[in-house]
Amino acid sequence: MKIIVNGTLITPGGKMEGSLAMDGDRIVRIGDITPSDGDEVIDASGCFVYPGFIDGHTHLDLPVAGTVTADDFASGTTAAVCGGTTTVVDFATQYKGDTILNALETWKKKAVGKSKANYAFHMAICDWNEEAKAMLPALREAGVTSFKVYMAYDTALTDSEILEVLREVKKFGGVTGCHCENGGLVTALQKEQLEAGHTDTSAHPLSRPAEVEAEAVNRFCYLGRLADAPINIVHLSTRLGLEEIRKARKEAGTCGVKAGEACPSDGGFRIYVESCPQYMLLDDSCYSKKDFEGAKYVCSPPLRKQSDIDALKEAVLLGEIDTIATDHCSFRFDTQKQAGRDDFTKIPNGAPGIEHRPVVMMKIFGDDLSPSDYCRLMSENPAKVFGMFPKKGALIEGADADVVVWDPNVKWTISAAGHHQNVDYTPFEGLEVSGRPRYVFVGGTLAAENGEPTAACAGTYVKR
Ligand SMILES: [Zn+2]
Repeated sequence: MKIIVNGTLITPGGKMEGSLAMDGDRIVRIGDITPSDGDEVIDASGCFVYPGFIDGHTHLDLPVAGTVTADDFASGTTAAVCGGTTTVVDFATQYKGDTILNALETWKKKAVGKSKANYAFHMAICDWNEEAKAMLPALREAGVTSFKVYMAYDTALTDSEILEVLREVKKFGGVTGCHCENGGLVTALQKEQLEAGHTDTSAHPLSRPAEVEAEAVNRFCYLGRLADAPINIVHLSTRLGLEEIRKARKEAGTCGVKAGEACPSDGGFRIYVESCPQYMLLDDSCYSKKDFEGAKYVCSPPLRKQSDIDALKEAVLLGEIDTIATDHCSFRFDTQKQAGRDDFTKIPNGAPGIEHRPVVMMKIFGDDLSPSDYCRLMSENPAKVFGMFPKKGALIEGADADVVVWDPNVKWTISAAGHHQNVDYTPFEGLEVSGRPRYVFVGGTLAAENGEPTAACAGTYVKR
């Protein structure tokens, strides 16, 4: 057995001084443990011991905007485990003309044998028809319990299609997420900017203002209410959108994840909310950087104003935001991002972040959030919303041995030089942070040590 000693365990019951024993890919004991001969003893003195962090929003090996994201499952999950993330939920994406079952097979092939972190898939439904509807039960059988629809891009569904997806997914206790931006408005506002001669990156946030997100959030909330189904609002970025969620939750008497409870799998309208560290740290002044540097921050929704940052941080402190993910969607600056040098609408949308989410969250919130809060936002709640709890998301006996030994005292500076993401930049360049995983175990196997990967490739598919 592997026995982690001398650490402070972050358990569902709170902080606990004690030891944790792993046998194979399971946590077998928590509490007072006396190691015997042959046990491997792992020192966690001065460290917090967390259940592995779960990133519920990544795009690895995704063909999009005429290119493919820079990180595939090998590099993306290597970066993930180095930063303490032991499971990713990536978006398998159905393209027009493809079936959702084939899309799942395609994405499984991208990950199998390459992923250092455990992996599960949401299914992004982009071509809703009778065939897709008929295949949903088979997808459920294959372990997929969460879905995504778009209100923008050429992957968008109509409102009536989204309503139908919500009703069908509800039938087997799944949850449907949505990219909430009004796509028609974005197209029109982009055209306006270009016609006015605004081709540089500073036009990006102007073409996707807060109203565009808030309107879509409002609409998705009403669609969820109409279907009486659980919904997940991904990458919330604005105060206006947050206000729509508050109003919808209040009017319907509903909520997100309830502390101390598993998420109900018998349907019913609930609003889960996800945000990402970049929306609580960086603002839209990044788009005015010279030498096309603004392209590094071109993601959708865009970075916002300080008032939005303040509102989102307050919502996190109030427990109104359920999960923190990254929306990791990486493109190289020196090549891929350059496609939009003369036209900001041609810049592939997305930014890297899979490696740095836990430490950046701790930088943003410090002691305003407790270790239990960090655990809830980045491990427990994603496990609950996406049907993995309590096998994942909790340090309890019988759970999967995905464990992070986190040393809060290591001081270092985030930089693209030395990170493990397969991109030539990070939006967090130069950020001075405290904390780094000393050891990261994926299914009981040491996957990273002191922020560097081991040779092991221990990730397995999470059938939910
Ligand atoms: Zn995304």
